[in-house]
Amino acid sequence: MGLLIKNAKIITQNQRRETIQGDLLIDGGKIANVGRELPKEGVGEVVEGKGKIIFPGLVNAHTHGAMGLFRGYGEGLPLHRWLEEKIWPVEKNLNKEDIYWGTMMGAIEMIRSGTTCFNEMYMFGLRHMAKAVIETGMRAVLGKGVYDKSGERSTESEMKELEAKAGEIGELHPRVKMSVAAHSVYTCSEELLKQAKRFAEKEGLQFHIHANETRQEIFQMLEKKKMRPVEYLDSLGLVDSSSVLAHMGWVTKREISIAGKRGANVVYCPVSNLKLATGGICPVPEFEEGGANVALGTDGAASNNSLNMLETMKCALLMQKHRYWDAGKYPEEKAWDAATINGAEALGMEGGSIAEGKAADLVFVDANAANIAPLHKELRSIIYSINPGNITDVMVDGRFILKNREITSVDEEKIVEKATDVAHGLVER
Ligand SMILES: [Zn+2]
Repeated sequence: MGLLIKNAKIITQNQRRETIQGDLLIDGGKIANVGRELPKEGVGEVVEGKGKIIFPGLVNAHTHGAMGLFRGYGEGLPLHRWLEEKIWPVEKNLNKEDIYWGTMMGAIEMIRSGTTCFNEMYMFGLRHMAKAVIETGMRAVLGKGVYDKSGERSTESEMKELEAKAGEIGELHPRVKMSVAAHSVYTCSEELLKQAKRFAEKEGLQFHIHANETRQEIFQMLEKKKMRPVEYLDSLGLVDSSSVLAHMGWVTKREISIAGKRGANVVYCPVSNLKLATGGICPVPEFEEGGANVALGTDGAASNNSLNMLETMKCALLMQKHRYWDAGKYPEEKAWDAATINGAEALGMEGGSIAEGKAADLVFVDANAANIAPLHKELRSIIYSINPGNITDVMVDGRFILKNREITSVDEEKIVEKATDVAHGLVER
């Protein structure tokens, strides 16, 4: 039984990082075999893969899917003004249905650009986001966002919500996992940060937080706590291998060392950082040398303005080369790792590589395109030229959720129409 794909170019991301011209057997939602000249006998369906590139589904390790509803709203502002003057006021009008439609639209955009798994952080609507993930066929870690410094929510109410959601989300679906997502050190009290982390530890969940994104955040922490954000988080016992620290653009060598020693996960979001003019560039090679696991994220589509991980991979590469004045400092292989296996590791999720026994989360690309041909040996450098229009098929758990460039799991046209209506209503509400 199973599906055999013959003669494709496969970027495996396996332990040896092999890129092979070969075959792929998928059975029962898993990769049953990968290699050259696999036998056709006993296989349910055989498909010719000549002219196709196959790579593992990308992992978007930091995003806010529903924020696509605010794409193009609040342009030209730096982060804190953008949040306070534009985003937080309209987010107050959001209801759970809106979040569902926003997440559905975001999921479609992610599928079309090769992402199969994402790490969400949003302040409410967890169950509705889960519904969108299940229906679209994706895989996701959904962060229950907590904060208690705005006046509307308290430490107690946030902890109660976390308890309630853990029971609800935990059992929903094997492709959906919950995490604890503390918004930031400037929106969460010390008590909430500590309790939320303890809760995450008790439940075995990832602890996701925005950290070291802007200079303003650094100055605030130095003033209030006499520590930089990572030092502060570490002093509370919040930095370890299940911590997912998003952004990390303004960091000292000491903070890089802390993240490395603790084996923390750092998520670099280059496009959002550039657009919000945060100024700091995450020193990715230094984090890796220090021992941290570095993944990539788009951040929300309101600050990007897309959820396109192909673009994020390219931007990460260009920014790192530019930052160090060294074209070889952050090679293409590293960006592939960050967007696949490192992302899966950061989230504790399946996928990330094409190897026997792994979940069949795959992206298929038509390589016979004017923006990709000719393919030379360094196949992984296609990251500079590929775009979502080259992606023909996407599979999660062995099921095609994009087939011949059509979304198969949900009604794309209806979703975009509905999300557009919702978004216009929100801004006017
Ligand atoms: Zn974010």
